[in-house]
Amino acid sequence: MFTAQKCELGKQAGKWFTVAIEAGGLARRVGYCARGCPGHESGVAAVAHHVQYLLDRESDLWLERQQARACEICGTPTRLRARLGRDTKPYVLCADHQSSRILQQLFQRSAAFPRVAATDDSGAPPQPDAEPGVSPALSATP
Ligand SMILES: [Zn+2]
Ligand SMILES: [Zn+2]
Repeated sequence: MFTAQKCELGKQAGKWFTVAIEAGGLARRVGYCARGCPGHESGVAAVAHHVQYLLDRESDLWLERQQARACEICGTPTRLRARLGRDTKPYVLCADHQSSRILQQLFQRSAAFPRVAATDDSGAPPQPDAEPGVSPALSATP
């Protein structure tokens, strides 16, 4: 698991890096952020940098499984999977949707990503409190 973390000390203070949290809570910079990266202005930018690393180095396309499941993009049953990162759950993607661009999109929608935005204290997002659709036409029957 990785997340973005703001550097608090030293000459990189205020910059964001992608880190992996190790057992015991120690954070270690990973991917491109561990390789001479000057840091980023935001957590989102730091994670984007790491996603680029995963796409370059740790993406697996055309994995085949025994079981057919619905493609996460179009719903077509497929036995193909694709994965971003070493220890992650593969996405179900049909032959039409096996691409690094799709992987990136799915990844950015996934659980790892919103944690970065959690430091943005602009208040809670608006909660649409829609009533379940009650059709007046139904109750109008004599
Ligand atoms: Zn970086
Ligand atoms: Zn598809």
